[in-house]
Amino acid sequence: MIFRSAVLTVLLCACACVSATDDGRTDCASYGQSCTSDDDCINGGCVAEPEQSRVDLEPLSLTCSCRSEAYDVGRPCRTPEDCSRGICLLTETCSRPCTSDSQCGSNQRCSTVYARTSESALQPLRGCVSLAELPEESEIHSEIYEDFFSDSGAAEAIDLPPVDPTTIVVFEHLAENAWPAFTTPCRAPICVDQLMTNDTEPLTLFDADLYSVMWRAEQEAPLNPVGSGTVLAANQSHPIAVMLPNGPRSALCEYGFRVLLTAENPGDMRLTELSGVSTGSRLDLNLFYLGGLQLAPSGERGPPLVKDALAVVESIYSRAGIEIGEVMQFEVAGGLREEFETIELRYGILEELPRLFALSAGARNPAINLFFVREIYDTVAISGGTPGPLGMHGTGGSGIALSVDSLADADLFGKVIAHEIGHFLGLFHTSEQAGFVLDPLPDTPECRLDRDRDNDAMLSLEECRDFGADNLMFWAMGSGTAITPEQKAVLRSALILHN
Ligand SMILES: [Zn+2]
Repeated sequence: MIFRSAVLTVLLCACACVSATDDGRTDCASYGQSCTSDDDCINGGCVAEPEQSRVDLEPLSLTCSCRSEAYDVGRPCRTPEDCSRGICLLTETCSRPCTSDSQCGSNQRCSTVYARTSESALQPLRGCVSLAELPEESEIHSEIYEDFFSDSGAAEAIDLPPVDPTTIVVFEHLAENAWPAFTTPCRAPICVDQLMTNDTEPLTLFDADLYSVMWRAEQEAPLNPVGSGTVLAANQSHPIAVMLPNGPRSALCEYGFRVLLTAENPGDMRLTELSGVSTGSRLDLNLFYLGGLQLAPSGERGPPLVKDALAVVESIYSRAGIEIGEVMQFEVAGGLREEFETIELRYGILEELPRLFALSAGARNPAINLFFVREIYDTVAISGGTPGPLGMHGTGGSGIALSVDSLADADLFGKVIAHEIGHFLGLFHTSEQAGFVLDPLPDTPECRLDRDRDNDAMLSLEECRDFGADNLMFWAMGSGTAITPEQKAVLRSALILHN
């Protein structure tokens, strides 16, 4: 029904512009033919087939129209009619069909996206979406290194320029099947082996080997990665985001930095640098409803439980001078909800998580995406990285997933969201649970292994009382909500905060 006017528009256009050219070729010759991008359409554009099946998860049918369609990728929409191509995504922005990045605009990418074609149908296609959404004063620079990873699986070095001021460098493996086999130590498509300064006597800022040995309390503990989110639970996340600097111990080097990356599978790599000085204090959130507690979009800030939880988040973050800005809400129904409402452990990793986070493709704000699923295997909540790829939607790390069925209490729900936002903005646990990996911030409390009174190699809330248990970023549930001045400085430097 809603497509009728679009059909008429296209037919009228077809009558008006079919004519013979000098060489005898007919303009609009491809009208009505199926297409995957504008390249398939002579003198026309590739658009959603007006007589669409509207069957949930069936690939969107695309057809050549008979005019060069407007370029409105990223424009807000509510229905397909709002977009020149008849393609309005789950994230309520317009897209256009593509098969490669080169067919999209600058700072855009060609991604698998979902067009909402009816209340109950989301249909996949490859479409152009924005690469990153950051406040205006920020800079986005992206480059693709072809065949960066070879067959050998050997570590590859890449030099990074000096950073000034805060820069997040995001590494993405672009091969379709980049996830490694079960047996490799690096469980994600890319792992950071080492990060060092690039002077004649390099200073090692991060060394993955340090985290594979059991540390003893009397030894000097290794700092958690100074600007790299590649250890412990985070070693399943992809892409990898490195934040420089991420605290006063981060060395700033005028010669830049060198990173050693490993990948099991060959392929291209995209490096995206996001930089700028954050001057804002407002944090946008996108809420994706995927069945957790049967919650659904409602009002300005969601149904009562969500609204109350966000009030808790806001009160915790008010101590860092951060308030919640725009809240957008998206319902994921049908087959995608069935697929993602329970995130299972498979081959030792949460294999579905990257595709869940990728549902954020096309979102038009510098928000953190929160995914309200029912249950994640053995996990209350998980961030797509420490830090996450700030402002980049549609990647395998673009958000935070929450096991909402076990978060029916607004106070607990809010605290869990606040803790995960801390990770996404770049905060590590003050001390990890075994007590031998500490965060890189000098002013956060440390709870080392010598406090392990019951010798279970796990530092509990009780054992860490006065040594971090009151901090928002303590590793265990039930911690406090304190934020230290240096944690506040990391949070306030987040490039996605806006005025
Ligand atoms: Zn945590």
